[in-house]
Amino acid sequence: MGKTLIIGCGGVASVAIHKCCQNSAVFEDICIASRTKSKCDALKEKLSGTTATKISTAQVDANNVEELIRLIGEYQPDVVLNLALPYQDLAIMDACLAAKVNYVDTANYEPEDTAKFEYKWQWAYREKFKEAGITALLGSGFDPGVTGVFSAYALKHHFDEIHSIDILDCNAGDHGYPFATNFNPEINIREVSAKGSYWENGHWVETEPMEIKRVYDFPEVGEKDMYLLHHEEIESLALNIPGIKRIRFFMTFGQSYLTHLKCLENVGMTSIEPIEFEGKQIVPLQFLKAVLPDPSSLGPRTKGKTNIGCIFQGKKDGKEKTYYLYNVCDHQACYREVDSQAVAYTTGVPAMIGAMMLLTKTWDKPGVYNIEEFDPDPFMDALNQWGLPWKESFSPKLVD
Ligand code: NDP
Repeated sequence: MGKTLIIGCGGVASVAIHKCCQNSAVFEDICIASRTKSKCDALKEKLSGTTATKISTAQVDANNVEELIRLIGEYQPDVVLNLALPYQDLAIMDACLAAKVNYVDTANYEPEDTAKFEYKWQWAYREKFKEAGITALLGSGFDPGVTGVFSAYALKHHFDEIHSIDILDCNAGDHGYPFATNFNPEINIREVSAKGSYWENGHWVETEPMEIKRVYDFPEVGEKDMYLLHHEEIESLALNIPGIKRIRFFMTFGQSYLTHLKCLENVGMTSIEPIEFEGKQIVPLQFLKAVLPDPSSLGPRTKGKTNIGCIFQGKKDGKEKTYYLYNVCDHQACYREVDSQAVAYTTGVPAMIGAMMLLTKTWDKPGVYNIEEFDPDPFMDALNQWGLPWKESFSPKLVD
C-alpha cells in the first residue's frame, strides 16, 4: 500500500519494524535509516525471508535537515515514522515539510540542553503542514499515544462530559538489575527527575519530583507504588477533551530504582550541564547512559507484566460514570514474539498503527494533530488486532 521511511533503529523502532513486517499488505516497502547503519543492516538481515515487506537501509544524521531531505528525495516515502530521539523531531518535521511527506512520532520535541518537553514547538507547524497538504501525527506511542486514543474513545462512546482522567502507567517487570531503564536512559531519567505537574481547573499545578505517591492495585499485576509525573499528553488532552477539570499521570517505580536514582542525582550524575573532564566536555547524564545496561539487552531477562491505562470520571445521560480502559502486556510474550521487552513493544506497536492510519488514509486531514484529534475506532480495532488488546471496567478502584 505504500512506502515508509523509519528513522532510528533502537528499542522502539525494532518492535515497530517487526510489526510493519507482519503487516506487509500495508507496509509493502520500508527503509530503515539511522545514525548507525550497521544496526539497520542487522535488523534487515534478521527479518529478510520472514516477510513480504521489501526492506532497504540508509545512514542518516537526523539532526541534519539537508541530509534528511536528500534521503526522502531518493526514497520517496508516503510517510516518515520518526523513532529517533525527541531532539530530532523538528529537523525531521522540517524535512517532511520541504518534501511534502506525512510525519509520525512518539514523543514531543525537547531541546537537548533544557529538559523541558512541551508541544509549542511542534504545534507552531500547524499552518505550514495544512498549507502543504500533509499530516503530522504527534505522539503515536502508548503514553502519549494509546492514552489519547483511549480518551477519544471514552468521550465518543461512554461520556457526555469527562471531568477527570488519571493515566496509570505500571511496569511490574523485573530485569534483575539493581538499576536500569526500560527505554533510552537519557530520555527516561530526564523525564523522571523533572518536577511533577498535573492539570486542574484550567492551570498547571507543579509538584516536587516524586512528591505525590499513591498505591494502586492494578488488574492482573497487583499492588504497586506509583508517583505523579509531568507527562506530555496532559498538555494536549487539556485542550482536546472539552470540559476536562483534572488530568494526572502516575508511573510505578520500585524502591531500588528510586534509591539509585536519588543517589545518582545527589552526586550529579543525572545533570545535563556539560562538565570539563580530562580536557573534554562531557554531559554527566550521557556518560551515565554509556555505563547503564542497554534497554534492548533487557528483553531476555525481563519477567512480569505492564498495565497501562486511563480511569475516566464524568457524566453520561445526567448520571455520574466511571470507566477504566487498559492494556496488560507480558514481557516474556513480547520477547518471544519480537525479541523485545514490553516497554518497547507497547510503544512500537502503536507507532506502526499510527503510520498505518496515514498510509491507508484512514486518518486523512492535513495539519499537525495529536492523536486524540482523530476518530479512535479504527485505532482501537487495530490495537486488538496487532498485539495490544484492551480491557475495560465500569467499576474500577479510584485513585484518591
Ligand atoms: P533508543 O535510544 O533505543 O533508539 C534511538 C535510535 O535513534 C537509535 O537507533 C539511535 O541511533 C537513533 N538516533 C539518535 N540520534 C540520531 C540522529 N541524530 N540521527 C539518526 N538516528 C539517531 O531509544 P528508544 O527506542 O527507547 O526510544 C525511541 C523514541 O521513543 C524516543 O523518542 C522515546 O522518547 C520514545 N518513546 C515513547 C514512548 C511512548 O509511549 N510514547 C515510550 C518509550 C519511548 P544509534 O543506534 O546510533 O544510537
